[in-house]
Amino acid sequence: MSRVAVVGAGTMGNGIAHVFAQHGWETTLIDVAPGALERVLATIRTNFERQVKNGTVTAEQRDAALARIRTSTTLDPVAHAELVVEAATEQPDVKFKIFRDVDRLAPPAAILASNTSSISITTIAAQTQRPPQVVGMHFMNPVPVMPLVEVIRGLETSDKTVGEVVEVAKALGKTPVEVNDAPGFVSNRVLMPMINEAIFCVMEGVATPDAIDRVMKLGMNHPVGPLALADLIGLDVCLAILEVLHRDLGDDKYRAAPLLRKMVAAGRLGRKSGRGFYVYRD
Ligand code: NAD
Repeated sequence: MSRVAVVGAGTMGNGIAHVFAQHGWETTLIDVAPGALERVLATIRTNFERQVKNGTVTAEQRDAALARIRTSTTLDPVAHAELVVEAATEQPDVKFKIFRDVDRLAPPAAILASNTSSISITTIAAQTQRPPQVVGMHFMNPVPVMPLVEVIRGLETSDKTVGEVVEVAKALGKTPVEVNDAPGFVSNRVLMPMINEAIFCVMEGVATPDAIDRVMKLGMNHPVGPLALADLIGLDVCLAILEVLHRDLGDDKYRAAPLLRKMVAAGRLGRKSGRGFYVYRD
């Protein structure tokens, strides 16, 4: 395989396109939001610059990778893709419609992967006529840096699809870990309750965000504190994941902290909006 379409050019789509293009894939990045594609190309250029400066890619590799990236505001280019990685907004209806449309347009042999953080791969696959070829390919943020790809097997996903996606992840220099389909998979089933509890601690005045993050960094050896991580992920994304965990597992221990809801309602989404638990000036 050498041709990928990435649907959704936000925080994750830009990193996913970056890594595929860096490893020789003809990459088409698709988004419907006006201005999203211009912004994302600028971000990818800046991130490649950083890699050239720190010596992880050469200037020639950067130029070749950038030349492999095309953009589109429609889904039509998936007609030429062997692999489609969906990284659009974490809302079930948005993803279901994308998968129905992509299934219609993509070649019959193409694998359709979702980067969803929590939505059922089995349910996403059921929107298509090819459930054995639908799989979760869950990259971590920031994609060019983080080694893990959580590979999620839906109820109908074939061994062949899982095997091919595992090989793709390895070819991108990543380490795949296979898990079964369940709300939040492993990564967010374990991570989100910790982030949510840290937000309850802020809400109840137990400590400041900075103090909470320092306790977890210095005491638990976490490289980044839970609240700084929530800002990096996006508070809207965290809320969407907690809502899936709460609804699908039916346990109130996953109830989102009211402070998280309030911050999302106010547009304090973390790094991407300039303010979350911390303020970001650039
Ligand atoms: P984001 O909000 O930054 O970007 C989503 C993008 O999808 C936006 O640019 C939006 O315009 C686009 N989009 C919406 N509907 C579309 C459509 N119909 N067609 C094409 N594009 C469309 O979100 P994100 O943080 O990049 O998350 C994307 C996915 O990755 C989500 O499923 C999320 O759960 C998952 N994810 C996020 C993180 C993280 O740290 N942010 C980590 C792992 C996985």
